[in-house]
Amino acid sequence: MDTLTNYKLTLLFIFAIVIPSTLLSLFSLLAISRERDLYRARIVQRYRQGADEVAAALDRRLAGPQQDLDRALEAAALDPLEGAASPLAPLVGEGRIFRAVAFVLPSGALASATATAVPRAALRAAELDEMFRAAEDLELRAGDDRAALVAWEEIARRHGDDEQVRAEALLAKARLYSRLEDPPLSAYGAYDELVRRFPLVRDRDGRILSIPARLEIAGICERVRDRAGEVEALEDAVRFIALHEEEIGAGAADLYRRRALERLQAISKELADRAIETAACARRDRDAARAFRASLERGKMLANLRAIQQQAAAGKEMPSSGWLVEKTAEGRAIVYWARLPRAGIAAVEVDVAGLRTRELDPVIAQETAHEDGFFALVERGAPVVAPDPKPDAEELARRPLRFPLDHLEVVALRRDPNAHDPLARLGDRVYVWAVGLALVGLAIGAFVMTRTVRKEMKAAALKSDFVTTVTHELKTPLTSIGMFAETLLMGRVSDKAEEKECLEIIAKETDRLTRLIDRVLTFSKIEARKKRFDLKLTDLAQLVEETLELFKTQMRGAAAKPLSVELLVVQDLPPVLMDRHSIQEVLLNLLSNAYKYGGEAKRIQVTLTKQRRWVLVKVRDWGIGIPWREQRKIFRKFYRANDVLTRDVEGSGIGLTLAKSIAQAHRGDITVKSKVGAGSTFTLWLRR
Ligand code: ADP
Repeated sequence: MDTLTNYKLTLLFIFAIVIPSTLLSLFSLLAISRERDLYRARIVQRYRQGADEVAAALDRRLAGPQQDLDRALEAAALDPLEGAASPLAPLVGEGRIFRAVAFVLPSGALASATATAVPRAALRAAELDEMFRAAEDLELRAGDDRAALVAWEEIARRHGDDEQVRAEALLAKARLYSRLEDPPLSAYGAYDELVRRFPLVRDRDGRILSIPARLEIAGICERVRDRAGEVEALEDAVRFIALHEEEIGAGAADLYRRRALERLQAISKELADRAIETAACARRDRDAARAFRASLERGKMLANLRAIQQQAAAGKEMPSSGWLVEKTAEGRAIVYWARLPRAGIAAVEVDVAGLRTRELDPVIAQETAHEDGFFALVERGAPVVAPDPKPDAEELARRPLRFPLDHLEVVALRRDPNAHDPLARLGDRVYVWAVGLALVGLAIGAFVMTRTVRKEMKAAALKSDFVTTVTHELKTPLTSIGMFAETLLMGRVSDKAEEKECLEIIAKETDRLTRLIDRVLTFSKIEARKKRFDLKLTDLAQLVEETLELFKTQMRGAAAKPLSVELLVVQDLPPVLMDRHSIQEVLLNLLSNAYKYGGEAKRIQVTLTKQRRWVLVKVRDWGIGIPWREQRKIFRKFYRANDVLTRDVEGSGIGLTLAKSIAQAHRGDITVKSKVGAGSTFTLWLRR
């Protein structure tokens, strides 16, 4: 085939298949990767929003309690900050976000919440002593409770600026009222006021007045059958004693506690147990408050609070509350401060570790229940540690919390979708396989197409060769027929014998012409699958003998060279089912090939043998032979070995094709063994 056609074919293949399919693959790849990018962008966006929301939720965990604290501090500033009734009690203490409270007093001194009411060591005036004695005389000696009441009221009025006097007056009034009234409501009010306003005030003998007052309140509640009020007062007493054990003194604390607990025990054992637990808790709160005070003094925090205090006192415009943050050995100390009217500054310690474990981590745990990702809370800039992230988690966003928790960050992570989604991985693999298979398919298609086209083109070329050769072969006998017929017509032949010779040549050439046309017709019939075979049991040896005779007569005359044909029948052969005429045609073809390509020595050997289920006819010559590479091709349509020697010999290239088709139609075959220069052996295989 010429290079131009090759070139055109290649171009056709490139433009019709390679470029379009490559472009198509590229476009689909692009589309897929764009789709993936979009999907990823959406996910990242979603996780960013998620991280914002989680960070906001975490911020609220502190902001909410902080507002409550503001309110409580405001309320507490108006009242003493002591006891279960204090507005701070539910917000500050063990297990809360705010662990302890301390105060920077207007003087700059630091005090814990338990010591706001600093006892005043006021010198007792002589006048005051006198009034006290007079009031006691009225009560104890004269037994005139009403007059005593008036006397105590006078004392309170005159010395209203002295806490101790007011406290003692309240206690005395309460005592008198409880004798004068039933139910003793005024007494209750007086005790209550004493407990709330002067919790740590002592009498002249150094006893803290609010403790017996609490027990008295419990007694009054019992009298009026207010069980809840009684329990509350007793529990409050136990808690208060626990908080102030040192100020009260071990002996007195023990005595009071035992009295309160006995009473609670009488009501129910659980109540007593609860009170003991409350007391223990109160003690821990007290220790926490002390530790907080110590830590404030240790670091720069106290100095900062004092500075705030001073600036406020100097009338500077400044916020009423805020956060202070200090790095410590244990991590981070966070303090909330609030300015209180008259009482200085309240400093509230945040339980940073507790805030994280009790408040923030549960939020994170809840938010983590996401379909394909999760959130984690880490120190700012720190990596997410085991058990998260899983090795294939990808970080999508980081959001710091708001001050004062800005040392923490919410991290949004996404599990690798492929690692967790077997379908996605499968999809990827299928994709790779599909592309691979498509490429392989393309290659195979290209190969098959090129081969088919080449083959068809070659066949077309061979066909045109065939037409040329057949025409040529037709022309040769026609020419000699025409020539001899003309000679006879012209009457140029005088001799009878000569005339007969002319006629014989005409008959032979006509015969040759007929056979050639027969062959071409058979060939086209077989090609169109229209050939019918007339199968009969035939004696092959006899057929071969007859064919040899026929061949010899055909060759006679034409054979310029001497011809020697020998027949060897090696074994007795059984009759074979065949179409006699067609097989003879095959044999004639093999014989004429052996003659045509038999070289100088026109020797042909025909052997008849059997081999298991086969009967074989071998036609051997000692001629030019066939190169190994051509041996398969000679059976193809119109194929003629590309040899100079072949070219010199007349032929159409359909003889062997026809012979093989006929043999195969008999469920047999034709094979060849040949060596260039040494000759060829063609074997016809027929089934017995
Ligand atoms: P043709 O003889 O008409 O060319 P065939 O189909 O009979 O066509 O043979 C095909 C080709 O096989 C021949 O052209 C020749 O090159 C080769 N061939 C056939 N028989 C022989 C042989 N006995 N020795 C050498 N070449 C042969």
